[in-house]
Amino acid sequence: NSFAREQGKGRHDGFIHVRGANENNLQNVEARIPRDSIVAFTGVSGSGKSSLAFGTIFAESQRRFLESVAPYARRLIAQGHTPKVEFISGLPPAVALQQRRGAASSRSTVGTLTTLSNSVRMLFSRAGSYPQGAPRLDSDAFSTNTAVGACSVCHGVGTVHSVSEKSLVPDPTLSIRDGAIAAWPGAWQGKNLRDITTHLGYDIDVPFQTLPEETRQWLLFTEDQPVVEVTPERDRVAKPYKGRFWSAERYVRHTVATSKSENLRAKALAFMHSQDCPECAGTGFRPDALQVSFSGLNISEFNAKPLQFLAELLRPFAVPAEEEAQAEVISTISTDLLARIEVLVELGLGYLSLDRSTPTLSPGEMQRLRIATQLRAGLFGVIYVLDEPSAGLHPADVQPLIEVLSALKAEGNSVFVVEHNMDVVSRAEWIVDVGPGAGSGGGQVLYSGEVQGLAQVEKSVTRRFLEPGPAPHRELRTAKEWLELDGVNLHNLVDVHASFPLGTFCSVTGVSGSGKSSLVSVALAQGAGGLALAESEEQEDAAQRAVIAQARGAEQVNRVVLMDQKPIGRTPRSNVATYTGLFDAVRKAFAELPLSKERGYSAGRFSFNVAGGRCENCLGEGFLEIELLFLPGTYGPCPQCHGTRYNQQTLEVEYAGKNIAQILELSVNEAEEFLADIPAAARALATLREVGLGYLQLGQPATEMSGGEAQRIKLATELQRQRRGHTLYLLDEPTTGLHPADVQLLISQLQQLVDQDNTVIVVEHHMDVVAASDWVIDLGPAGGDGGGRIVAAGTPAQVAQNEASRTAQYLARRLA
Ligand code: ADP
Ligand code: ADP
Ligand code: ZN
Ligand code: ZN
Repeated sequence: NSFAREQGKGRHDGFIHVRGANENNLQNVEARIPRDSIVAFTGVSGSGKSSLAFGTIFAESQRRFLESVAPYARRLIAQGHTPKVEFISGLPPAVALQQRRGAASSRSTVGTLTTLSNSVRMLFSRAGSYPQGAPRLDSDAFSTNTAVGACSVCHGVGTVHSVSEKSLVPDPTLSIRDGAIAAWPGAWQGKNLRDITTHLGYDIDVPFQTLPEETRQWLLFTEDQPVVEVTPERDRVAKPYKGRFWSAERYVRHTVATSKSENLRAKALAFMHSQDCPECAGTGFRPDALQVSFSGLNISEFNAKPLQFLAELLRPFAVPAEEEAQAEVISTISTDLLARIEVLVELGLGYLSLDRSTPTLSPGEMQRLRIATQLRAGLFGVIYVLDEPSAGLHPADVQPLIEVLSALKAEGNSVFVVEHNMDVVSRAEWIVDVGPGAGSGGGQVLYSGEVQGLAQVEKSVTRRFLEPGPAPHRELRTAKEWLELDGVNLHNLVDVHASFPLGTFCSVTGVSGSGKSSLVSVALAQGAGGLALAESEEQEDAAQRAVIAQARGAEQVNRVVLMDQKPIGRTPRSNVATYTGLFDAVRKAFAELPLSKERGYSAGRFSFNVAGGRCENCLGEGFLEIELLFLPGTYGPCPQCHGTRYNQQTLEVEYAGKNIAQILELSVNEAEEFLADIPAAARALATLREVGLGYLQLGQPATEMSGGEAQRIKLATELQRQRRGHTLYLLDEPTTGLHPADVQLLISQLQQLVDQDNTVIVVEHHMDVVAASDWVIDLGPAGGDGGGRIVAAGTPAQVAQNEASRTAQYLARRLA
């Protein structure tokens, strides 16, 4: 059969051959890529690297794998897609490790994700010290996620919630009508409850504190839920209805236990006292499990220690055992644990603890955890396809990363990385450079060969950056004022004093886990008065707050803008066009067309979010969820509008020969030309191009964008705003996902913001950005408890001279 023949041939010459690849923007690509090597895929953002590495090579490997499994099993595995490619030979099975945020389940931890927890539980079960006479426990007893292990009072969560009159009624001088029972829901639901309370015969117009004790108790705590017929007060339109009473406690507990909305749950929790569970002292473990110790630590203490610490603790046990059976068990488990933990430490993650919940990890940390876990998976003969494994990594940690990738290779695998970091790229064994530009301006393989050969390829944008020259010299700005934070405490920051220069461009550096994000994205945002402006509710829910003794100079800042990598929308309904507001201008222009006037179409007609112009079959989504047995959420294009999102009549209106759906298919670059006569749109489009997003399709759903793309869209939206000055911009690793050529673009955009009288503060590893700053604050010296201090602060040249700073040597090299 042909599949077997192709595989056989591939194994013969050691290469994967790709021919006629046309996925996304790829232009009939032909390429020869070695197996059993570390291969870097390079090119500007949107050039087609991912379309080749993930969209074609990985997807085809998945497809073949799925074809080889039984049909019933196939249905259980998430469906990949069939890539547009004529022929691929020599293709081994592939494993993709993309950057994804942690699963939403807060019960997932570093320990469970890496499966280290299984071994730790075994260690405690088999090799722990038990109190005299206590029976040995099964390893399940050392997990808060199992029925036998979880504390019976808090079910393993570690916290218990209670309510009191004070927590439910913060201001008892108010009447119920004026909202005394703050814990009740707001809006119409709250009004219903007040109506019901009146019908039950209670006075809702006197101060709550004047009600009899018994009444107060009943309203707040009863389990009873009488149903009464209610005639809405002062509302002649509403009809009588049957209403059910909820006491404040019952409502709050119900919401916390069952609500799917994180936001509602957080609001309800705010009316409860939360405290450590008294039964398990907040650990979530059963008391008998906590009696068992290893090396003086109980399971909860063990899980809370940094991995680096655990490595030192286990080292003495990880030696060949004596005859005694017990010692042999300890030796075997410790040896295995130590080896696995050491990989994580090598990847710069030694500051993490096993009990750290995965939703609090950055995407870069998540990916490195996955890489390390794979290293121990014992697979060989596969291709690992990785997405920017250097994300979040300090230059000092690049070498250990390369060593881990080499170890994966040494076990007999191929390692393909989509990568922008030239320190990683230059140490790969092979480069596949895609380009030359983005979107339809890219999509060709310009070079596939050994690294040094790229220098000869004239069309390549990448080749200029393999050996970067010194950063251009420029005049440094000096701070007009300082924003000073005193006594900052959060995570590993302990009583930190930090001064941030206003009116300049400042970089905050340091190894992974040193405290950069805690200092900038949380403490500084909060100290500058910005948390009230936090854009997403999620951020407030996370309840991440720093303790700050004093903040001085915040009055110099009018506005704080946190430009993070969170998606610009959670549904496919948001896209670049809607987010930046340019779609409003386009819809207005459509409404001005003669045919629109004739038919009475207003701008709203051209929205896919409201009834009128949109396709009602898919409600403007363009696709429908197809119900398949066993398969959650599979989507197919809507048969009525064929994915255009609009109804036929709306699509009959054309602007310069294109209907509204065709406009959404244009890339930013194409649209800038096509919509040149709509100034508001053209301005927004020009800014998007300037931040390197010219390749993006206007209608590309927010859900399909990378974190870096989302961040740059936010940046572009800011750049086109009316400029007010005195804004403080905070960015966390804005160069993630950016080719060095795009990094240059980004730097000049940020400089422009500063020139307009604003302040820019970035958390960065990219030395081009650091070298282009006016001021550098270096945290460290290490990650976790070994960090959290300001090691150096000054101009780039000053920090580059500082011998205490781990960043200095890399910065010095860039400044030379
Ligand atoms: P890179 O990895 O080099 O940044 P990609 O392979 O992600 O580039 O994208 C190449 C081109 O294909 C871009 O123009 C991008 O907008 C487009 N593209 C990427 N994913 C999709 C998709 N799912 N549907 C349509 N176009 C896409
Ligand atoms: P950086 O941005 O320099 O990588 P972070 O500010 O993310 O560093 O982390 C500093 C320290 O705080 C690390 O030890 C990290 O494990 C810890 N930390 C960060 N976020 C959280 C969190 N949400 N919960 C607990 N610990 C955290
Ligand atoms: Zn408990
Ligand atoms: Zn439709």
